[in-house]
Amino acid sequence: MNERPLSTALRPSACPGLLRIVPALDGGICRIKLNGGSISSVQAEAVADAAERFASGVIEATNRANLQVRGIGGEQAALIDNLLAAGLGPQTAAGDDVRNLMLSPSAGIDQQMLFDTRPLAGQILATLQSHEAFHDLSAKFAVQLDAGEALAMLEHPHDLWLSAFERNGECRLAFGLAGCPTDLPAGSVALVDGHALIVAVLELFLELARPEQTRMRHLLTEYPVEDFLARLAERVPMQAVADWRRESGSDALHIGAHFQADADLVYVGALPPLGRLDPVMLRGAARLAHELGDASLRFTPWQSLLLPNVRNENTAEVIERMEQLGFLCQPGQPLSRLIACTGSNGCAKGLADTKGDARQLATLLPQSLNVHVSGCLRSCAAAHTAPVTLLAVAPGHYDLYFRDAALPGFGVLHAHNLTIEAVATLLDARSRSPLDA
Ligand code: SF4
Repeated sequence: MNERPLSTALRPSACPGLLRIVPALDGGICRIKLNGGSISSVQAEAVADAAERFASGVIEATNRANLQVRGIGGEQAALIDNLLAAGLGPQTAAGDDVRNLMLSPSAGIDQQMLFDTRPLAGQILATLQSHEAFHDLSAKFAVQLDAGEALAMLEHPHDLWLSAFERNGECRLAFGLAGCPTDLPAGSVALVDGHALIVAVLELFLELARPEQTRMRHLLTEYPVEDFLARLAERVPMQAVADWRRESGSDALHIGAHFQADADLVYVGALPPLGRLDPVMLRGAARLAHELGDASLRFTPWQSLLLPNVRNENTAEVIERMEQLGFLCQPGQPLSRLIACTGSNGCAKGLADTKGDARQLATLLPQSLNVHVSGCLRSCAAAHTAPVTLLAVAPGHYDLYFRDAALPGFGVLHAHNLTIEAVATLLDARSRSPLDA
């Protein structure tokens, strides 16, 4: 059980944390960072109870595989104390913000993994929290550790990514700066040097970056990446990677039942519609995981969750009970492919009710399409560019963008100021076109 680290000053930041509740239109927001997205059933029940007792009951699964409680009223301290008592807090107050290490949701159980990332991840998370210098990193500075799992979010950019591959019978870690594991690697290190590489990259970044250069991409706009790598090579033994690149992952493995490395077991992926749960849903999933899984849940960067280690014979029951709770467990459901930010119901910057409009769009789309509905340019719901983005311009009205790899931001502006009905008609026509990408 954690003790509340009140003695250590909290860092100022606009980002919510577990100990720093940030106000929004619909009340305070508390962000609970989960180690590798994982939370025990008992902890999940504690989150559900806290959201019910001290907040509006809205719980969000974030696109970095964390949880948020929204609508927090005057009892902030009680909410925080309950979450800390459940063991959800950081090791030190200043360490909360830097717990930004993303793993595959199927870490340690994936059929294709080259190694179990969880022990190394535990070591990295401990260092991030205990090494005081790292507390100067931005709350957004993020690291990804990938072991080649079939289920992996490979589109979110990270300040540093590491991805496992095999060479001459040896498992090594390719890595890159300010990008995704599907980019060309900047180099590789032996698996045993993975922790040292991360420490060296973060220390070098902090030595070189000016205070306003909070992300790796900021530094690399003026400090040549070759020079950064040359200095890194003085600290960690590295090799070039000439002929390997991480293959893209599948977009469908986070939903429904999928075999694990142990073929007697499956994980069941389930999506709360538009990333939102209520206490009944979270408590129900936690109890089901306790009954028919391994008493844990894993949240994913698709704003969904997995019940890992379910016996094959229990798959149908788990899916049925998750659907009864309101989760989506079939990949073909249009709502399962839509993401939407908080929107004007809870965010002062929102120009439209994005979640309500996304629900309406789901009823109008004849087939499932990956669509991101954003209340403003900040794009809180998507860490990557979606194939289709609706950007609010007024209540119920959106600009429509199509992703274009050659363009930054949301891509090509295709149409301006559309209603949701007009968007549905246009997307339907486009999906029938042979020119559709
Ligand atoms: S994208 Fe804009 S409107 Fe949506 S939650 Fe973020 S800041 Fe608010």
